[in-house]
Amino acid sequence: MRSPRDPTLFLPALALVCGGLLSAPVFAAAEPGASTLVLVVHGGAGTIRKQELTPELENEYREKLAEGLLAGYRILRDGGTSLDAVEATIRLFEDSPLFNAGKGSVFTAEGRNELDASIMDGATLQAGAVAGVTNIRHPITAARAVMEKTPHVMLAGKGAEVFAEREGLEMVEPSFFYTERRWRALQKAKEKERARQEAESGDSAEATGRGGDLGTVGAVALDLFGNLAAGTSTGGRTNKRFGRVGDSPIIGAGTYANDRCGVSGTGHGEYFILYAVAYDICARMTYQGASLSESAETVVLQQLKQAGGDGGVIALDTDGNLATPFNTEGMYRGYIRADGVPHVEIYQ
Ligand code: ASP
Repeated sequence: MRSPRDPTLFLPALALVCGGLLSAPVFAAAEPGASTLVLVVHGGAGTIRKQELTPELENEYREKLAEGLLAGYRILRDGGTSLDAVEATIRLFEDSPLFNAGKGSVFTAEGRNELDASIMDGATLQAGAVAGVTNIRHPITAARAVMEKTPHVMLAGKGAEVFAEREGLEMVEPSFFYTERRWRALQKAKEKERARQEAESGDSAEATGRGGDLGTVGAVALDLFGNLAAGTSTGGRTNKRFGRVGDSPIIGAGTYANDRCGVSGTGHGEYFILYAVAYDICARMTYQGASLSESAETVVLQQLKQAGGDGGVIALDTDGNLATPFNTEGMYRGYIRADGVPHVEIYQ
């Protein structure tokens, strides 16, 4: 797969965008799959019951997911890269308090917000990530900057924050991430933890009720050049220990993309790390010749489920096939193809 920055790729892309204004031979130079654009997104998996989601809130989720899909779609339609579409879509979700990412991030046990994000370019196998950041408005943009402007893959904590500030990214006060809804979810998780500790006389395991930390976001895109990119952004899990890092910023666990397959996950991050979920889905295609949906379903509906790892993934291949398996009651999700019509789903 050639890089999207390869100038020879601009002609076929231009031909696609201009709807055949250029001559046929140039159009024919497009690689197989180059005429397909697809964007698939998630907004978190977990216990989402129709009776517990008011129609108003359900609509808000549907509208925001559709807005994200359309924002990414416009970029892809106009010849932008999958990386640009993934970043722009996730930034929009990070700005929405609906999702557990950016502005809507959940709280740690200490009542702080520590955010994680990663992005991967399937065309170049380059990736970037930030972990445990507290004052970067758009962690996904910081992750991309790590990929493009450092020789590293991941920066954590203070180092990531100082780097982001030096790069001129938008910095905010940590209190920017406060939302009443997530604060209440922390109080609820703490009550549950206390009740369980009393019942189990002193077991100090953290309670991270899945209802309270729903909303991690992710996007995987296929652009007109036939290249894939994937990204994920999260506040992690409600009541997590400070310093805890989940799967979302870990390449191969919560995010992965190569020249055939791209994946973003959401769920109980520890299991996604242990089972190298995102990488495993793509590796099964390479090593076993399995289809995208076979790979994604085996990992999420069999392996993860048997292990007790709640969650789901969005996955996309270079032929434009997509899979969105989840082993929870629901997963906020959606996709858009070249026709520009957003499709959004929440329940099974
Ligand atoms: N996977 C995220 C984490 O464990 C949380 C989520 O997707 O809900 O940090």
